[in-house]
Amino acid sequence: MTLKKNIENDMFIADILSKNKIIAMVGASKNWKRPSNFVMKYLQKHGYKVIPVNPSSAGEYILGELCYASLEEIPFQIDMVNIFRPDQFCPGITKEAIKIGAKTIWMQLGIKSEEAIKIAKKNNKNIIFDKCPKMEHSKLSGALGLAGFNSNLISSKRSVPLSPPPASRNGGIVKSNELETLAIHAGTRPDSATGSRSMPIYQTTSYIFDDTDHAASLFNLQEPGNIYSRLSNPTVSALEQRISALDDGLGACCAASGHAAQLLALFPIMEPGTKIVASSKLYGGSITQFTKTFKNFSWDAELVDVYDLDAVRLAVQDPSVRVLFAESLANPDGNVSDISSLADIAHEVGIPLIIDNTMATPIICQPGKFGADLIIYSTTKFLSGHGNAMGGAVVDMGKFKWNTGREFSKLTKPDPSYHDINFYETFGNHAFINYCHACVMRDLGATMAPLNAYLTLIGLETLPLRMRQHMKNAEKIAQFLNKHPKVSYVSWAGFEENTFHKLAKKHFKDGYGSVFTFSLKDGYDAAVRLVENCNLISHLANVGDTKSLIVHPASTTHRQLNEEQKQNSGINDSMIRLSIGLENYKDIIEDLKGALEIV
Ligand SMILES: *Cc1c(COP(=O)(O)O)cnc(C)c1O
Repeated sequence: MTLKKNIENDMFIADILSKNKIIAMVGASKNWKRPSNFVMKYLQKHGYKVIPVNPSSAGEYILGELCYASLEEIPFQIDMVNIFRPDQFCPGITKEAIKIGAKTIWMQLGIKSEEAIKIAKKNNKNIIFDKCPKMEHSKLSGALGLAGFNSNLISSKRSVPLSPPPASRNGGIVKSNELETLAIHAGTRPDSATGSRSMPIYQTTSYIFDDTDHAASLFNLQEPGNIYSRLSNPTVSALEQRISALDDGLGACCAASGHAAQLLALFPIMEPGTKIVASSKLYGGSITQFTKTFKNFSWDAELVDVYDLDAVRLAVQDPSVRVLFAESLANPDGNVSDISSLADIAHEVGIPLIIDNTMATPIICQPGKFGADLIIYSTTKFLSGHGNAMGGAVVDMGKFKWNTGREFSKLTKPDPSYHDINFYETFGNHAFINYCHACVMRDLGATMAPLNAYLTLIGLETLPLRMRQHMKNAEKIAQFLNKHPKVSYVSWAGFEENTFHKLAKKHFKDGYGSVFTFSLKDGYDAAVRLVENCNLISHLANVGDTKSLIVHPASTTHRQLNEEQKQNSGINDSMIRLSIGLENYKDIIEDLKGALEIV
């Protein structure tokens, strides 16, 4: 869809929601656990009069409104007809809606009848399909909601309730697909209460209920909103929106660290007795988490060489496998995954592909464009970017169909902790991220602190600029090391002879990241001497800082791994990892040159 069309689409829906105040809901259910009842309650709360239409409840009251058997029996004028009935009933209902003079016909999320669309258009009626008025209203009214969904809309005007719209061109809204703009604006309109242009740090644990009914609606997930900061917080939600915008995702959920984000991404998918197939080249901490700690949940993990696609294809055949997990650009030695092929292999057997995009960042790679379903980040690294805030995020592209393929019962079966709602049926493609907040955060509690969300929002503003400079510097340093007589090899995907150069060209833009490894001709002791003799470059276990960082994995980050795992993850005794910072590259080279002289 073109940029203009997208704005028009949102403005069109905003216009409809501000003008169509009396809504007949065909297929409204008196069962408060059904999606139609949720939507009706939400719309009532936001000033709409909703008339239920359902022959099986005719004459009864639903949420205080008399229910009619058909549209024609309603004795007053209706603006809009919202259809909660299967596709085949839509043409008939649309004809009836036209007969009673409704201006708008709106088919619910998952419902789309081409014939009904044709009839409505021929009669000059507004027609909307496969959308939910509750979700559209909460998106357009700037509500931060229960979760950080990517609204795709940015604005320099403070958010105001949908009606009346802000007195500005296009209702005050612009849309951008440019990463530089999204990195600064996505998720952070001026504060609605104070006009504050910088995102406030909502340093609060809890949020008032307007009344007990409002409280009940929040707890029942009928109304999006904040309850308690373990589940959601406005500053964290702003960060979630921004990160998901940078990946062009549907929504995101943040967590206290990258490792917590991995748990968060896997928890809705995995059950006891199920299995993860993951790259053997994963970040060392992830290997330990997957193969040791997750065993306590009775989750199994099989590590495979993801650069051998036949091996991956074979591994995912096991029906207990629920997910395929790899890094776009591996930490530490810069291997590049063939994301499109991995996505195809995963989708063939009905499982999602998770890509850890920490090292690449959305600036050089958007894994969703190549078919990844979920993307995870340690925001501790480049996203916050200054080595000052732990954090993690899961982005959902919103494309994976949880009710087909292998079984994902947490999302597709009644959830007893939420009055038996079925998340996928109730929230459609919003199910995964809603589950992350409503269940995983609620019960596992690995919440990101608002201050860390704030620091990460500030960091993200310069992510595009920083990444380009990080990568320019990395190129200079990789070239210097490649020519140095004491260096045996430099594992940087920018070199044409590098095994992963072609895959990097296919998946990355503007560079090859700024974390890579090199090895010395001498062994373990030489490597230790080198890291200990750097005076500008810091010897520590982080990456993705403005400061240049160096570490010797065999004696630090990968120490926990056994010999076989070390070999599988490509670690050797003299291998050194560099994370190139933003200092002048000449100073970084001088520091390495001096330390190499001593080796
Ligand atoms: C650091 C890192 C993690 C873990 O993130 P934390 O924020 O340290 O918990 C996961 N994956 C990769 C690729 C990382 O570099």
